[in-house]
Amino acid sequence: MQAEIIAIGDEILIGQTVDTNSAFIATRLNSIGIKVAQKRVIADEAGAIERALDDVLSDTVLVFTTGGLGPTKDDITKKTLNGYFGGELVFNEKVYQNIVKLFRSFNRTPSEINRSQAFLPSSCKPVLNKIGTASGMHFKQGKRHYFSLPGVPYETEYLVENKIIPWISENLQKGNVVHRTLLTQGVPESELAEKIADWENSLPLGISLAYLPSPGLVRLRLSSYEEDSKEALKKINRKAKELREILGDIIFGENAQTLEEVIGISLKQKKATLSTAESCTGGYIAHLITSVPGSSEYFMGSIVSYSNRAKKELLEVNMENIVAHGAVSQEVIEQMAEGARQKFHTDFAIATSGIAGPTGGTDEKPVGTVWIAVAGPQRIIARQFRFGKNRERNIRKSALMALDMLRREIQKFQS
Ligand code: ATP
Ligand code: MG
Repeated sequence: MQAEIIAIGDEILIGQTVDTNSAFIATRLNSIGIKVAQKRVIADEAGAIERALDDVLSDTVLVFTTGGLGPTKDDITKKTLNGYFGGELVFNEKVYQNIVKLFRSFNRTPSEINRSQAFLPSSCKPVLNKIGTASGMHFKQGKRHYFSLPGVPYETEYLVENKIIPWISENLQKGNVVHRTLLTQGVPESELAEKIADWENSLPLGISLAYLPSPGLVRLRLSSYEEDSKEALKKINRKAKELREILGDIIFGENAQTLEEVIGISLKQKKATLSTAESCTGGYIAHLITSVPGSSEYFMGSIVSYSNRAKKELLEVNMENIVAHGAVSQEVIEQMAEGARQKFHTDFAIATSGIAGPTGGTDEKPVGTVWIAVAGPQRIIARQFRFGKNRERNIRKSALMALDMLRREIQKFQS
């Protein structure tokens, strides 16, 4: 698919402003496999704009203009486009409400001249600009789409990123988009980005990467926008393979898989069994595991040992350890995991104990401190984590981290 960009503004022609908008738009279009065939800079003159539109190349499907959407006399793009595509300027309530909202956030009310920005050509669809008063505009003529964007770079960037690229992917590239999502666990987004920076920078035209973080895990979605979807699949598989080589066992699965499903598969494969001893996660890990159909084959049960007494009586944790080190400690978590393993006669057991918050923290053990242990046939591993202050997220993160520790231990297990 071919695109063109027309930057409108005398200030660009005289060199006062550098045309960064075209560069931004071109970079983003390239990343989704759209070729920019022509970039032009023209004057703030109706004649120049009309000529530029007349001279669009015949193969071009997407035309972008930037600049000249403001409310002042020198901003003539809107009026000119209205004349060019026909129709009249009509008041758009939605666009006006957006302008009112923006002014309210500065404690101001829009003047008549600001209100004029809510009048848009009847021949266009507005591209709502939440961060500025000039609405983007979308005109269609035959198979060709024209997007008129504001001059202010950060507004243009916002509209391209949040409105136009998604619109193109949804409406123009439907058949040709191939996605593959690799699931990672336990490494924060920024660290992942660092690890794969060189690889990411060398991604070829038409392949892009999106980071989709949620508490505890980051999904890495590779998208390819080749015209030929077979070719796209080939390319994307090659890139996914490279990514797997770089990230190794940080990747636990793909696409819609969950960590608990992946664990279920490997426990079954190795004919191994599992139990849990849960304090701060309150049975949430057991819930995740038993959400997977067929989990009765490998999951034996859980002890939700919330109180110290439960830890002692149900899991055989030494009271002296609890008194000396606290319930959130390495000594206690290891005994909890081993206790569950013994009680349920399983190959593996997971234990969690922590301060989920929002209250209950101390200087030494602030809210978000969590100990997790995994006991297996050969060894017990225990790790301390510092999550945040949000209770729900702490529970979720603890559970996912525990499952991830288990996943790595199962990999080492020979039945
Ligand atoms: P406004 O509502 O601010 O008037 P506008 O859509 O009318 O926005 P312009 O008046 O053309 O846009 O430009 C607004 C600002 O954006 C100016 O500071 C201008 O220098 C800058 N600008 C305009 N076009 C570009 C461009 N192509 N690249 C980078 N900056 C630009
Ligand atoms: Mg202006």
